Amino acid sequence: MASLLVAMIGIVIACCPFPAAAETLRLNDTLCHAVTPLQQADAPLPALRFSCRGSSTGYQQASLWLRADLKRLPVDRGDVVLMLHQSRFDRLVVSFSYADGTVQRQQVSSGAYGSHWRAGGQIAFEAPVRDAPLVAVTARFDGLASENLLHLRLVTRGEAGAQSAALAAAIGAALMLLLVAILYNLSLAAAVRRQFLAWHGAWAACMLLWGLIWSQLDLLAVPAMAGTLSSQTCTFLACLAITLATASVVTSLGRDVLPARARIATLALGGAVALFGIPLALVRSAAIDALAGVAGILILTDLATVAACLAWAWRRGSAEARDFSAAWALPMATLALIQLVDIDGAFWGAGSKLVILVAAAWQTLWLSIAATRRFAQLRIERDRARADEARASELARRDPLTGLRNRRGFIETIGPLVDHERSAGAPVALLLIDIDQFKSVNDAHGHEAGDKVLITIAERLQRWEGPMCAAARLGGEEFALMIAGIEGFALARFAESVCREIGACDHRDAIGERQVTASIGVAETRAQGDFQALYRLADEALYAAKQGGRNRVVVRRFSLAPPAPSEARAAQL
Ligand code: GH3
Ligand code: MG
Ligand code: MG
Repeated sequence: MASLLVAMIGIVIACCPFPAAAETLRLNDTLCHAVTPLQQADAPLPALRFSCRGSSTGYQQASLWLRADLKRLPVDRGDVVLMLHQSRFDRLVVSFSYADGTVQRQQVSSGAYGSHWRAGGQIAFEAPVRDAPLVAVTARFDGLASENLLHLRLVTRGEAGAQSAALAAAIGAALMLLLVAILYNLSLAAAVRRQFLAWHGAWAACMLLWGLIWSQLDLLAVPAMAGTLSSQTCTFLACLAITLATASVVTSLGRDVLPARARIATLALGGAVALFGIPLALVRSAAIDALAGVAGILILTDLATVAACLAWAWRRGSAEARDFSAAWALPMATLALIQLVDIDGAFWGAGSKLVILVAAAWQTLWLSIAATRRFAQLRIERDRARADEARASELARRDPLTGLRNRRGFIETIGPLVDHERSAGAPVALLLIDIDQFKSVNDAHGHEAGDKVLITIAERLQRWEGPMCAAARLGGEEFALMIAGIEGFALARFAESVCREIGACDHRDAIGERQVTASIGVAETRAQGDFQALYRLADEALYAAKQGGRNRVVVRRFSLAPPAPSEARAAQL
């Protein structure tokens, strides 16, 4: 997306300088004017008295005629296209006067621009090619709202085509970015339930609609929008966009970083801009110039207030304020620029509107990237916290000395295994393993050597671990193995081998040649008892093994008789 924006800006910048042959027509400089009643026929041009000084008045309910004498202008009089901004008027007739006295007329009216509209909010009138050179171009506007909003240029056919194509590409790219931003922000707003993203999506939608209508690309689908209706809709959408952007900024700043009074005042100011947009869009009289001036002040006040809110929140450490400030810097500078400098004739006649569209695309792109970055950061932090929590919880289930499961971890691990095997009617067995005469190991070689012995035995037990077998250190020098799937003779042989292997462990680096043995009590069952009952049975077997002389295995099978009520209660605990 970023490269698309860069490409778009590149196109716009490339378009920026005026081509040498283009001629901007200015009132009282290259344009003379006249005002007649609306009933005046289009034909008798020579009879009209044009004035090349002062400004026209009263043309809003009449016809304003603007005439450029081509003999005085440095243009190719055989290749002329008149380009002008679309504006608010009812009808426009362009007359091309030739040296032989011929006059060729073309006209558009509000809602019917025919093939004269061009991308970038312009209307083009091509002078028909004749043998006689052109001497004048006259534009007649019926019911024009303001001559101050008019921008007329003379270009060649080649320039008109190239400029319109380049503008269409630049505008199309900006509109595409806005469309992506709408989809992105609205879906993100739904996913993370953040209000400001919804406002931002609405703002991007408003700008997209504005861009479509201003550039006249909407005429491809709705030709009747041409002219005054488009212009009025654009005025209202521009005001509404400022309201939505204000709401997006204010709602993004937490209540802890922006005082409630500032929040309400800024939102009210933003709302006032949209409300002001209604009369501004509807008015057709001379009052439009005064209203536009008031609107400019209101908009600048709103921007200044939003900027103050951002600065306030930024100083209080708001990350949203930082992101919004960066995103708003360009559009704000743009708005300030177009208030101070008239660039409406620049960018091949697309002027300030194109700059606003590009700035809007830039802002929405920046904010989308900032939001993605922040949410990605949050996700990374959340995943890290979850991993830490999982690690801590795993550690709480492990014995720190040997790394084997502790009693808690063992019960949690084997619980599901015992339940599953019992419900399947498969055998499970618990081996309680207690080191023989371990106290004397400690006494003879020290506690540290005793620890090493425990670690060596734990490492040996760990090797039996697998899907059907779990090992644990239940406490002190007592270990356990839970094994599923074997019983009877096979289980007894397994327990014997465990006893033998423990006895065969090499402890030379801790206690020299001394052998360490273990006694094992085994409790086996099939579909009966729970862990507590099994443990009690294995403990009995272990006691018997100790009594029997140690370094041996005693196996007990779970009796088929149901446990006594008191035992059953203990088992639940
Ligand atoms: P028996 O054959 O009857 O089991 O005799 P025993 O000496 O092994 O049993 P007793 O219960 O009398 O002693 C257990 C000893 O285990 C006592 C204690 O010092 C030692 N012990 C318990 N936990 C640890 C430990 O973490 N490290 C070390 N080095 N010794 C431990
Ligand atoms: Mg013991
Ligand atoms: Mg012992």
